[in-house]
Amino acid sequence: MKTQSLDAMPVTALKGVGTRNAERLEKIGVQTVQDVLFHLPFRYQDRTRVTPIGALRLGDQAVVEGVVEGSEIRFGRRRSLLVAITEGNASLTLRFFHFSAAQKAMLATGVRLRCFGEVRNGPKSLEMVHPEYRRVDGETEQVMEESLTPIYPTTEGIHQLSWRGMTEKALSVLADYPQGLPDLLPEALLRSHGLPELAAAVRYLHRPPADASLDELAEGRHPAQRRLAFEELLAHQLSLRELRRLHKGTPARALVGGGDLRRRLMASLPFKLTAAQERVVGEIGEDLRGKHPMMRLVQGDVGSGKTIVSALAVLQALESHCQAALMAPTELLAEQHMRSFRDWLEPLGLEVVGLTGRHKGKARQQILDSLASGEIRLVVGTHALLQEDVVFHALGLVIVDEQHRFGVHQRMALRGKGGSGELVPHQLIMTATPIPRSLAMTAYADLDLSVIDELPPGRLPVSTVAIPDSRREEVIDRVRAACRAQRQAYWVCTLIEESEALQCQAAEDTALQLAEALPDLRTGLVHGRLKAAEKELVMAGFQKGEIDLLVSTTVIEVGVDVPNASLMIIENPERLGLAQLHQLRGRVGRGATESHCVLMYHPPLTGNARERLAVMRHTGDGFVIARKDLELRGPGEVLGTRQTGEMQFRIADLVRDQGMLDDIRQAADLLLKDHPERAGQLIRRWIGEKTQYINA
Ligand code: ADP
Ligand code: MG
Repeated sequence: MKTQSLDAMPVTALKGVGTRNAERLEKIGVQTVQDVLFHLPFRYQDRTRVTPIGALRLGDQAVVEGVVEGSEIRFGRRRSLLVAITEGNASLTLRFFHFSAAQKAMLATGVRLRCFGEVRNGPKSLEMVHPEYRRVDGETEQVMEESLTPIYPTTEGIHQLSWRGMTEKALSVLADYPQGLPDLLPEALLRSHGLPELAAAVRYLHRPPADASLDELAEGRHPAQRRLAFEELLAHQLSLRELRRLHKGTPARALVGGGDLRRRLMASLPFKLTAAQERVVGEIGEDLRGKHPMMRLVQGDVGSGKTIVSALAVLQALESHCQAALMAPTELLAEQHMRSFRDWLEPLGLEVVGLTGRHKGKARQQILDSLASGEIRLVVGTHALLQEDVVFHALGLVIVDEQHRFGVHQRMALRGKGGSGELVPHQLIMTATPIPRSLAMTAYADLDLSVIDELPPGRLPVSTVAIPDSRREEVIDRVRAACRAQRQAYWVCTLIEESEALQCQAAEDTALQLAEALPDLRTGLVHGRLKAAEKELVMAGFQKGEIDLLVSTTVIEVGVDVPNASLMIIENPERLGLAQLHQLRGRVGRGATESHCVLMYHPPLTGNARERLAVMRHTGDGFVIARKDLELRGPGEVLGTRQTGEMQFRIADLVRDQGMLDDIRQAADLLLKDHPERAGQLIRRWIGEKTQYINA
């Protein structure tokens, strides 16, 4: 084996790893010896010592020794073999649901056993269910493991023993060729953060010594784990900064604009901007006048008025004789934005087109032509905007609404549509997911951040109650009363983990039942399976007040804005996460009357569900909810990156490692200043070719 970088050494270089295993490993992203080394155990077992039976605690995984005192077969709900072993005057039951006569014979009274398993509560004493066990006879000395036993996350066909073998070999390659995995973090940095060297950390985590703290390892707090998480987060930070640097270095059209359209729009609005909106409009305006592309994230809780802020940015682009595109995550939302923008811009003599999946054939071609020629200046759409044949004449500004539904790649794809020459459009991203600042700065390190931290005046908090579904009749009465008082209501049906078809079916059934129970109300229905035109018709009807009660699936989750709707019923809210509940509830509380939200749950609730509903009842503050959500579900869900596969770390965990994030940003500054060449190496090591951020 020649000395080479371990990230260039295929797994097949390890003895015993053939092409079949290499294929299996590739499925979980393990291709090189370095990947094997970074494939860390997710837990450990302590097989280094024998725990006295009397000292066992519930939940322990432990090695014990004892003498079989007797066994019996129980014929209960499931036939099982119970074997009692004792040591001193402490005893433990071994329980087997599958067993052979030979096994039973081998577990005879008087035999001495060494077992390994998890300690659980049994009806009479502590138990181990299906422990590993082996006879111990006095003569042969039974050796114990010298280090904690690593348990690896794995894939079909690769057993724990193979992992142990592979990591053993990879560690010995590392010992022979330490330069194959160089330490890229400067020594001073490691010292100041009390972190070990890379190779030592890797070795420790694959083979922790017998005296390592299992608790510390289980919680990911060990310095060796922190060392790797630190490096991984640093690499991520560096890659986003690199991305930002590259984009900030490209030229963009300076959208200076005269301000005339903006003034006319402002004059036509029935309200004044809040101070927070003014500030953010100012920040965006400044960016747009620059010669390099804006990359700004606007965070604002639901209902904080992001749409009008984006409209002012659009007008600045249009005043500067450029085009603008707005992309929304759902057709429903795209259509609603279409309506808002038409209401605002048509009186100014500006034409707006929509482009979604429903535009096909000739109609679509016509839209594409008008965008390519520059005849149409604003397009509002969905993912359909990302298709390759959507070309612009002079695209100056791209706005992405509700960013957490889109990934970095999709943002990038729109950015590449600048039109003539090398100019890159300015980019504005809007999200209602209020995430803690240090997390935002990590997840969106490529973006500048503006926060609309104020709601329009006069908004009343939505009063929220949780009611079991046994009181459905009462809830229906509430809907009737609200609608008789000239207000409108949403009834949201939820079903997760089942097919979309089932969800839609449930909404259809509910709509029928409610229409029957509330014959004097006008009931509408929207769900994902309706044709776009039907959806649009229903939504427009609801918006105009021609529909009193809108029954829907969670498709209305983002962005829908009907201020007269002041009651929302959410069925089975216990099935949803906090962020989603907050988004849904954000559909009400948009007008001047007090709004109500009824969380109609199906008992019994789990502890976690109870906690989520309590959070919803007690606060309407998106930041509080997001923090709680982060605790209860983790950052992949909160950032919406779980589906897009971004922000998935091999080792780091954004919640657990939150405390390091500020240090990591500082470390990134330091590294770029003193060792710029290492930044690229770190990015390659941890992010590699998987993401094309850098080339996007
Ligand atoms: P979101 O931030 O959730 O996208 P929207 O842009 O949909 O919020 O705005 C919510 C509602 O508030 C809309 O009806 C909008 O017209 C209204 N609105 C926005 N800004 C103000 C303001 N400054 N004063 C009063 N109402 C406003
Ligand atoms: Mg919105």
